[in-house]
Amino acid sequence: MKVMKFGGTSVGRPERMKQVASLVAEQEESVLVVLSALSGTTNSLVEIGNLFAAGKQLEALQAIDQLEKHYQSFVEQLISEKEARQDAAQVLVEHFDFLRINQGIAFSEAIRRDILAQGELLSTKLFSVYCNEQKLSHALLPALNFMVLDQQDEPALPMISTRLKALVQANVDKKILITQGYICRNSKGEVDNLKRGGSDYTASLVAAAIGATVCEIWTDIDGMHNNDPRIVDNTFPVEHLSFDEAAELAYFGAKILHPSSVWPAQQFQIPVRLLNTLDPTAKGTLISAAPVSAGVKAVAAKDNIIAIRIKSSRMLLAYGFLRKIFEVFEKYRTPIDMITTSEVAVSLTIDNDQHLQAILEELSLFGYLEVDREQVIVSLVGFEITSTPGILSNLALAVKDIPVRMFSYGGSPHNISMLVPAEAKTKLLQQLNKEIFGLR
Ligand code: ADP
Ligand code: ASP
Ligand code: MG
Repeated sequence: MKVMKFGGTSVGRPERMKQVASLVAEQEESVLVVLSALSGTTNSLVEIGNLFAAGKQLEALQAIDQLEKHYQSFVEQLISEKEARQDAAQVLVEHFDFLRINQGIAFSEAIRRDILAQGELLSTKLFSVYCNEQKLSHALLPALNFMVLDQQDEPALPMISTRLKALVQANVDKKILITQGYICRNSKGEVDNLKRGGSDYTASLVAAAIGATVCEIWTDIDGMHNNDPRIVDNTFPVEHLSFDEAAELAYFGAKILHPSSVWPAQQFQIPVRLLNTLDPTAKGTLISAAPVSAGVKAVAAKDNIIAIRIKSSRMLLAYGFLRKIFEVFEKYRTPIDMITTSEVAVSLTIDNDQHLQAILEELSLFGYLEVDREQVIVSLVGFEITSTPGILSNLALAVKDIPVRMFSYGGSPHNISMLVPAEAKTKLLQQLNKEIFGLR
C-alpha cells in the first residue's frame, strides 16, 4: 500500500479535487490518501478562532458565512448528481453548524483546536462524496480515531500503528482509503493538531505506521527546489536527497515539507517522493537512504528567529557554564537551533518565544544579555559540504555585503548556517543562487 498526500492547493479548486480522484483511481497499488484542508481554509479558521477568542461574535459569524459560501460554490462545481449534492449539503450543514455553535459557549483553547480541525474534516468528507458519485469504492478512516499524541505532545507511533493497521485490515476490500492530515487527539483525548503544514507529518507517520511502499507528497511544485522559489527567480528541482538532507532543509525552512515530517519515513526506510499535482509526469524529488553525491543541494531560510547573547567574564576558563545555560532552555522545553561560543560570550538562537521572558530572567543571572529579534537562519545543505572544495570561497562572495550575526560551520558535515537580519534575507538568497549554484 502506498500513501498519497495532497496539500491545500491540490484540492483547493473543484477541478483539482477531481484530478486528485483520477490520479488516485489510476494507481495499481492500494492507496491511503491523506488530504489537507482546501487552500485558505485553515487561515480562515485561525481568523474565526481569533474572533471568538476576542469576543467578536458578530464578526466571527460573518467570517463563517463567507467561508460557507465559498464551500457552497465549491460543491456546486464538484458534484453534479442530485443525491450526492444532498450528501455534500449535509456535510456543510454539519460542520458550519458546529462552527456557529461556538458563539454561545465560553471560549477555550480546546475549542480553538476543534475549530481548526473542521478544514480537514470538510475536505475529506467532500472528497468521499465525490468518490461515491464517481463510483470509486473507498473507505473514510477518521484520523481522530488513530492519530494520537503522547503526554509530551509527540505522535505515539506504536499506538497509531496498532490502531491504523486494524482499520486498514477492516477495509481490506477497499483499494482507496482516505484520511485527514493535520488533525489528531492529544493525551487528554481532546482534538489537537500537528501544527501548521502538519499534513506532511501525518503522511510520513501513517506511511511508517503501515509500512507503506512509498510516501508521496503531492503539492503545487515539481519537488524540492535548490532555493526558495517564492523569493528567488531562477530555481530548479533537486532530483535526489538523502533523508538527512531533506530533514535539515525541512527543519531550516523549506516550506514544501513540515519541519518534523522526515523522521518517521527515515526511521522505517520508506522512500518519500515530492510530486506536482499540476504536472504529474514531472520527476519531482526522491528522498531516500540511497547514497547521494557531495556538494550543496539546496539553501533554505527559517524566519522569526531570536538571537540571545550571554556575555560573562565568569566564563573565562570555567567549566559547567554551558550546562547551566542549556538547563534553562531544557526547563522551558525550548529548542536551541544555532550556537556559537567565544571565551567570554555565548550566542544562541531560538524560534519559539513562548517562554522568552522567563528564559531571559534566568539567563540574566549568568551575565549581561543582548537580544536580537527578527533574525533569519539561512542554511546551505548537502552531503559533506564542509569538505567540498570551493564552498567557503564562494560563500564569502555571497555574503560580502551582508551583516552576518552568527556563522555555524562543522556542527554537521552536511550543513552550514548563517544568522542574518530579516531585511538581508532576500539579498542573501539571491546572492547564494549566483555564487553557489552559478545561476543569475
Ligand atoms: P501544500 O499546501 O501542498 O502543503 P505548501 O504551500 O505547504 O504546499 O508547500 C509548497 C510550497 O513551498 C511551494 O509552492 C513553494 O512556494 C514553497 N517552497 C519554499 N521553499 C521551497 C523549496 N526549496 N522547494 C520547493 N518549494 C518550496
Ligand atoms: N491545513 C493545515 C494548514 O494549512 C495543514 C496542512 O495543510 O498541511 O496548515
Ligand atoms: Mg504544506
